[in-house]
Amino acid sequence: MERDIYDEDHEAFRDVVKEFVKRYVTLADIARWDADGEVDRDTMRAAGESGLIGLSVPEEFGGAGMLQDYRFRAVVNEEIIAAGAGSLAGAFGIQDDLAVPYLVHMGTDEQKQTWLPRMATGEVIGALAMTEPGAGSDLRGIKTTAKKVDGGYIVNGAKTFISSGATADIVVTFVKTGEGDRPDAFSLLIIETASEGFDHGKKLHKMGFQGHDTAELSFSDVFVPDANLIGGREGQGFVQLMMNLPLERLSIGVAAAAAAQAGLDWTLTYTKEREAFGQRIIDFQNSRFALADIATTVDALWAYLDRALLAYRDGKLSAEEAAKVKFWATEREWDVLDACVQLHGGYGYIMEYPIARAFLDARVHRIYGGTNEIMREIVGRQLAGKR
Ligand SMILES: Cc1cc2nc3c(=O)[nH]c(=O)nc-3n(C[C@H](O)[C@H](O)[C@H](O)COP(=O)(O)OP(=O)(O)OC[C@H]3O[C@@H](n4cnc5c(N)ncnc54)[C@H](O)[C@@H]3O)c2cc1C
Repeated sequence: MERDIYDEDHEAFRDVVKEFVKRYVTLADIARWDADGEVDRDTMRAAGESGLIGLSVPEEFGGAGMLQDYRFRAVVNEEIIAAGAGSLAGAFGIQDDLAVPYLVHMGTDEQKQTWLPRMATGEVIGALAMTEPGAGSDLRGIKTTAKKVDGGYIVNGAKTFISSGATADIVVTFVKTGEGDRPDAFSLLIIETASEGFDHGKKLHKMGFQGHDTAELSFSDVFVPDANLIGGREGQGFVQLMMNLPLERLSIGVAAAAAAQAGLDWTLTYTKEREAFGQRIIDFQNSRFALADIATTVDALWAYLDRALLAYRDGKLSAEEAAKVKFWATEREWDVLDACVQLHGGYGYIMEYPIARAFLDARVHRIYGGTNEIMREIVGRQLAGKR
């Protein structure tokens, strides 16, 4: 099914992304990121120079000023994932969808001025730290505290599973500034990773996204100045997290659809080249039936995602609608990639083949950004008339 949500500007931008891919996303680059467990700084800076990151950063702060138009980010995801570089797409996603928005939409003028220009160039890498060893889905159970002192806060605690956590220069960190677990007991602080008492901890060894770092972080009496309290207001952390949820969930949905599309494309190529019993794999009726299912699912994914992209642009994508998109898209992605692996036979299990990597990357889409059970809980509660 032909998609019609992109205009000339998006397509011109796609050409820029394709050029970037040709130059900076070779198989050797992907292998290097995997071996190092992270995307290198030079690539992030090159992405900044080419205008591939910082898309929502306002022009006055050196970005592209695409505040609500996530279609440009979708183009980046599509092209980078099609190149088999899920880890790079992940690194860009953390910068643009998880870190930058807290500054763009909720930061003080000083915070924007201090960080956004260098985040748009890729000079400063950002991360978002909510999850702790004892609290993931149940974020109100976090234990990291920020105690008010003269001129700032003293932070103690630990975070885990933090994407870009080992490479980040600043981490937007969810902390407790009050007693109990009422929504106003939490705040978001920008913690500079060069601060005394901050420890990047160890990189976690994952089954997928091998080339994008995920780390444990710890804070031992880290002093964070008042100027780094997001929005300059204490007790707003929970509300601020909620404000970015639609974008976070939409971004995972888009990555899932892009991976399903890439899986279909790789599998079509493979099944037309590979032969068995004297004919191409695609000439078996079973293969054609499987591919028909896959192609139809991919069409449905884009039809849904495109609608969500436009709703987001128009400020109409609610947290519940975004939760539906997230769980449904990531589950369809899983079905599609599993079927694609099967059509590749043994080669589908070999990491040199992009389908194997995409399959492993896909698994976490159903877990992070809020697990799919939590997404169903959010949707179900709304249907039941509960808040
Ligand atoms: C690769 C990776 C990258 C990540 N990146 C980040 C990041 O950048 N920043 C960050 O803050 N976090 C990040 N996370 C953390 C991620 O968001 C959490 O792992 C996720 O929210 C689940 O939390 P948990 O692991 O504590 O699982 P738990 O909350 O312990 O859940 C365990 C199981 O119980 C289920 N469950 C829990 N509560 C309910 C309920 N109420 N109803 C039904 N089922 C329930 C869950 O769905 C899950 O199946 C990342 C995780 C991974 C693996």
